[in-house]
Amino acid sequence: MTDPNFYQPPSEDPSSSPTPGYDSLMPNGWVPCPNCGSTHVEMPSFTWWGGAVGQKLLNHVKCQDCSYTYNAKTGKSNTTAIVIYQVVALVIVLGLFYALGLLG
Ligand SMILES: [Zn+2]
Repeated sequence: MTDPNFYQPPSEDPSSSPTPGYDSLMPNGWVPCPNCGSTHVEMPSFTWWGGAVGQKLLNHVKCQDCSYTYNAKTGKSNTTAIVIYQVVALVIVLGLFYALGLLG
């Protein structure tokens, strides 16, 4: 006994924006500061957690007006991504030490 109409896919408007609320992206494609709406946002050249490349990998930017840091592509906090980044970096470093130990 299967009703073909039992499962109905969620009705989504295909014309709706994938990121509602962020209609006006900055010229470089970044999302304005989700905390204060400022477009005065810059990517730091160096971060304590990611060195010189981590912020580029995670699109990590900092609002120059309220010091809020977030993902420039999603407008969400990067805290989880930073933790994952640190864990991955740690695993890579430990793996390198392990490999060097095996070789040496
Ligand atoms: Zn801000």
